[in-house]
This record gives sequence, structure tokens and C-alpha cells, in this order.
Amino acid sequence: MTHTSDRTSLDDTLDDADYGVPWALDDHHRAWQRTVREFCAREVAPGAAQRSIDGTFDADLARAAGLLGAYGLLAEERFGGGGADLRTLCVTAEEMARVDSSLAVTVHVQAISVALLAHLAAGRDDLLAEVLPDACAGETFVSFGLTEPTGGSDAGNIGTTARRDGDDWVISGSKQFITNSGTPFSRYVILFAATGEAAAGANGRSRRPVSAFLVPLQAPGVTVGGPYAKLGWRASDTHPLFFDEVRVPGDALLGEEGRGYREALGFLTWARFPIAAMSTGLALGCLDDVRRFVGDRTSFGSPLGAHQGVAFGVADIAALAATARVMTYDGAWKYDHGRPIAREAATAKLVASEAANKAAYLATELAGGYGFMQDTAVTRHYQDARILTIGEGTSEVQRLLIARGLGLPV
Ligand SMILES: Cc1cc2nc3c(=O)[nH]c(=O)nc-3n(C[C@H](O)[C@H](O)[C@H](O)COP(=O)(O)OP(=O)(O)OC[C@H]3O[C@@H](n4cnc5c(N)ncnc54)[C@H](O)[C@@H]3O)c2cc1C
Repeated sequence: MTHTSDRTSLDDTLDDADYGVPWALDDHHRAWQRTVREFCAREVAPGAAQRSIDGTFDADLARAAGLLGAYGLLAEERFGGGGADLRTLCVTAEEMARVDSSLAVTVHVQAISVALLAHLAAGRDDLLAEVLPDACAGETFVSFGLTEPTGGSDAGNIGTTARRDGDDWVISGSKQFITNSGTPFSRYVILFAATGEAAAGANGRSRRPVSAFLVPLQAPGVTVGGPYAKLGWRASDTHPLFFDEVRVPGDALLGEEGRGYREALGFLTWARFPIAAMSTGLALGCLDDVRRFVGDRTSFGSPLGAHQGVAFGVADIAALAATARVMTYDGAWKYDHGRPIAREAATAKLVASEAANKAAYLATELAGGYGFMQDTAVTRHYQDARILTIGEGTSEVQRLLIARGLGLPV
């Protein structure tokens, strides 16, 4: 493969292509960015194409991300975390997705699950001391189990139930598309289940209250289904989970009974920024590759990049990446400085993920036939881009949130 390739050496990086956000990143963010970039060039990029083609989760690479400290970035240092801010996680997501979105989502889900567990179990130091150090190190994975077969956008409409039986809870139901749930490290799922009686909500719809639980995947009655055959994120790990009368102790309940879902979703608003950062990274990955390609290849006696139509396509990819980047770090900066971020999170997720898809489309077009070959980076980015407007709330859901924030009655 001579024309489009993975980014494997630092000398080969095209830093001048990045649209700087100096107001948003401090020196320590830039130093960490360099560290992650070196890690990605050394350990991630070389096998990214083959892992995606094979659809294999690489346990050694996941361990290496643990040694880097990526999983526990947001957790407190006393529990083995990095005590870092959101921009640090966004930088990590961006750099990883620039070469391998599968690793980026593996890290993302673990990092947000670690942060969510710390939030929901705040004050329960025994539990946090038992689970978090291994989770931060990547020796155990905690997955996030919300989506059900009946639908993910209407996430509060939960069919999985938890009923009290003496001091225990007994859980039945199923979850769908759960990342990091079938790896050699997968030990727990933060599971959302309906508890209590249905009551009419503000919108008149009848809903059962939903609670959060920390459920060991080895508990009797838990079945981890086979892996999905996916279009993208092919080297990440995704399974359905089935719960058949799974008995867990009373203290598996996280937070207040009936409030876990609202608490979790309210807390996780910021988690849309790392997805926006992954979108930024993917668009920049497209730009890296296409710039190289249009410099190397000639048509009609000139380098491809000398044709105005081609150069405009490259410029459009750069502009899309820049838009995603500015939206990501504007919102993450505001979050880190205690500002409200509800509209920013939905807007950044919407704009950045749509930009990544447009960038990947353009990049594959400009790569010609190579943009249809599975071993090229642009083809992998094209495959990986598709989920970005779907996972963690679809583009339609982000539009609903933005419209509601504007007072529209949707
Ligand atoms: C690879 C992968 C990994 C994932 N990892 C996880 C995970 O770790 N944990 C987890 O809990 N979930 C996970 N998900 C689930 C993901 O978050 C959902 O797929 C996503 O939220 C969409 O839900 P859905 O697939 O059920 O689509 P649906 O909700 O059925 O939506 C179908 C379509 O209808 C549209 N739609 C629905 N309602 C409305 C409305 N009111 N107005 C306008 N349009 C609407 C949607 O935008 C979409 O286009 C993962 C999914 C994938 C594919």
C-alpha cells in the first residue's frame, strides 16, 4: 500500500494542519497531547488497519493504554486515577481517534464508566477503593449498560427490572450494544433497571423510576452474548447482555433508589465532548492521510493537490476538522471552568460528528479506489465515522436537546 497509509512516525506528523485552540489548552494539556501522540505513533498506528480488518480486540494494546494512564484520567488520585480535567480526556480521545477509533472508544467508555461510578458511589470509599484502582489501571473493565433492544434514544423507557427480595435485588432483562462487556478484563456493568411503580412524568408519559446498579458480569444468571459484527469500531468490543433472575446484594444499588438514571444522565452531559473530540481526531486523521496522498500521486501530469478541485476538497476537510475542534474545546473549557454546558454539549456532539462524516466521505472520494480498500486509513475512518452521529445520542436526539433548550415544545 503506497498511497494512503497509517501515521506511524512522529517525523511524519503534519502539525501545521491542526487548527490551534491556544485559549483552551494549557501547557500541561499540550505536554500530555505529545505523550499520547507518541504512544499512538509507537503502539497504536502500526496494527490499526489489520485489527480493524480482523475485527479483533487487542488485549495487549488495551493493557498498554492502562499503563499510559488513560482509563482513570478523571478519577481521583487516591483511587489510582489521574485527577485530570475534561480537556485532558478530550486530547486523549482526539489523538487516539486520529489513528484508531476502536482504541479511542475503548478508552472513552472505560473513562466515563470510572467517572460515573465515582460519582454515583461518592462517599462509599470501601467500594471505590475496591473497584477503582484496578479499573483505572485497565486490569478490570466497567461497562455502561443503558441501551435496550427496544431502543436507545428513548433511554428512560427501560424494560429491565430490579425487584427487592429480602436484602437483595433480583434483576431480569437485557441490554444491547454494550461496549467493553466481553473482553478479558470485563468484570462489571453499571446497569440501569426499572424499580418501583410507574408514575406520569411532566410530559404525561407513564414511566417507572430507574435505578443504577453495579453488577458483576460473573454473577449467576448473567450471560454475555456473542460479539456483534460491526461496520466500524471493529477492533472494539461490543456485546448484548442478558440478565435472568440475577441476584445482587442490596449495596449493589448505586445512588438513591429510583434516581440513578436521572443522576447518571445529568452527570454525563459532559461525556458528549470526548465523542466530539473523537470526531475531531477522525477528521484530522483523514486530513493527514489525504494531504500525503495528494502530494504523492499525479494525474494529468501534475500532483493531485495541484488540481483546484482536489485542493478545495482538502481545504474542506481541514475546515471541518477545525470546526469540530473549536466546538469540542470551547465546551470542554467551559465545563472545566464550571460554566453551564447543556447546549454546548449537544451542539459540539452534533456539529463535530456530522463534520467527521463529511470529512471521511471527502477523504475516501479524494483517495479514489484506495478509498474503497479496507487496508487504507481513510476507509477505516469512513467506517468508524458512521457511529459518531449515532452513539451517545443520535444527531436527531442532539437536535431535540438544542431545540428544547431554545424553548421549542418538541
Ligand atoms: C458500536 C456501538 C457501541 C455502543 N455502546 C454502548 C454502550 O456501551 N452502552 C450503551 O448503553 N449503549 C451503547 N450503544 C447504543 C447507542 O447509544 C444507541 O445505539 C444509540 O443511542 C441509538 O439508539 P438505538 O440504536 O436504539 O436507535 P433508536 O433509538 O431506535 O433510533 C432509531 C432512529 O430513530 C431516530 N429517533 C428516535 N427517536 C426519535 C425522536 N423522538 N425524534 C427524532 N428521531 C428519533 C434516531 O435518531 C435514529 O435515527 C452502542 C451502540 C453501538 C452501535
